[in-house]
Amino acid sequence: MKAVVVGGGLGGVTAAVALRRVGWEVEVLERAPEFGEVGAGVGVMPNAMRAFEALGLADDVRRIGTPRVAGTIRDPKGRTLTRVDPAQDRVVAVHRADLHRVLRSALPAACLVTDAEVTSVDDLDADLVVAADGIRSRARQALFPGMPQPVYAGTTAWRSVTTARFPRDLGISQTLGPGTEFGVLPLGDGRVCWYAATVAPAGGRSADEWGEVRRLVGDWHDPIPRLLDATPPDTVLRHDIHELAAPLPTYVRGRVALLGDAAHAMTPYLGQGACMAIEDAVVLAAACARADDVPSALAAYDRQRRPRTQSMAKASRLLGRVGHRLRNPVAVTVRDAAMRAVPASIGSARVSKFLAWTPPVLSPDR
Ligand SMILES: Cc1cc2nc3c(=O)[nH]c(=O)nc-3n(C[C@H](O)[C@H](O)[C@H](O)COP(=O)(O)OP(=O)(O)OC[C@H]3O[C@@H](n4cnc5c(N)ncnc54)[C@H](O)[C@@H]3O)c2cc1C
Repeated sequence: MKAVVVGGGLGGVTAAVALRRVGWEVEVLERAPEFGEVGAGVGVMPNAMRAFEALGLADDVRRIGTPRVAGTIRDPKGRTLTRVDPAQDRVVAVHRADLHRVLRSALPAACLVTDAEVTSVDDLDADLVVAADGIRSRARQALFPGMPQPVYAGTTAWRSVTTARFPRDLGISQTLGPGTEFGVLPLGDGRVCWYAATVAPAGGRSADEWGEVRRLVGDWHDPIPRLLDATPPDTVLRHDIHELAAPLPTYVRGRVALLGDAAHAMTPYLGQGACMAIEDAVVLAAACARADDVPSALAAYDRQRRPRTQSMAKASRLLGRVGHRLRNPVAVTVRDAAMRAVPASIGSARVSKFLAWTPPVLSPDR
């Protein structure tokens, strides 16, 4: 059986690895001249880490990721709002390019094709087409022409990675201010990925994005100013956050399965967009291994993935409203007091339910 994966982002390459694990021949078609990822971090949540366990890649991911450190949510002065127990719900932050490299190294070079823009999935020679072509998915637009385009979520985000290395006990943290947030994701080698997000009109750009971040959070608590000082200004990326606000009625059509952002682009407030793509990949491969034919496999994939990913997208959107998007000083004070008062274990009960996901067994045998 042969699958063609359209798009070689984190979702597409993970799908390729998973399908090969269950005995499929796979080709990944990527429109860019090179495979890779942007210079920013991504948090691999425990649910996605279990998906990597199923693929036999978890140790490789841990090796490039955050050591076991505490997680803290703070206010801009550095006061703790809540803590995340490092024994539970551990996030392993990785550099996206490193994660992409780990995934590619699990694939034969011959199945990775660059400079290969797919204009129509109908022309592809395959038993299964995995459309992993991202938030602006051409495949989704062709298969669901009536569905609305992604919408701006009201937040713009900057991301980068320090060149300097920081001590290994630097914790993962998120700092919530009025209308703005800053996140710190230490990597395994001491470099630190960070992001800043703020409420802003769509399309804003500056000749000095580093300076914009400095203006927003430069007087926030340590180590935020030091992280900015350790970041080359020309490496700071800026993206407006978009999401697929209208959920799709199905993720499958004929022999095509939509996967990752193509199916369910969501806001990053729960840090689960890429994690959902990674889960999708393992579930799709397991369904292909178990079902008698591709239509039954795709029906099972849609049944298992649509409810979970669409409720994750909804929860992420709601969290955004009470997270950095709050700007009213009274509302911010009430939010901060509530976070201090509620034990992290209770506050994160809903999130823990999402994180408790376990992957299906991947085996070529039925
Ligand atoms: C600021 C920000 C922070 C985030 N933080 C997190 C986080 O901490 N944790 C998390 O889990 N998620 C996070 N996300 C979400 C995450 O980045 C995405 O959900 C994830 O990268 C989607 O992967 P994908 O493979 O589905 O799509 P993409 O990464 O968009 O990959 C799509 C690929 O398809 C290719 N392509 C497109 N069209 C074609 C075509 N016609 N033919 C061939 N190739 C094509 C593209 O070039 C691209 O390589 C964040 C997102 C943002 C914007």
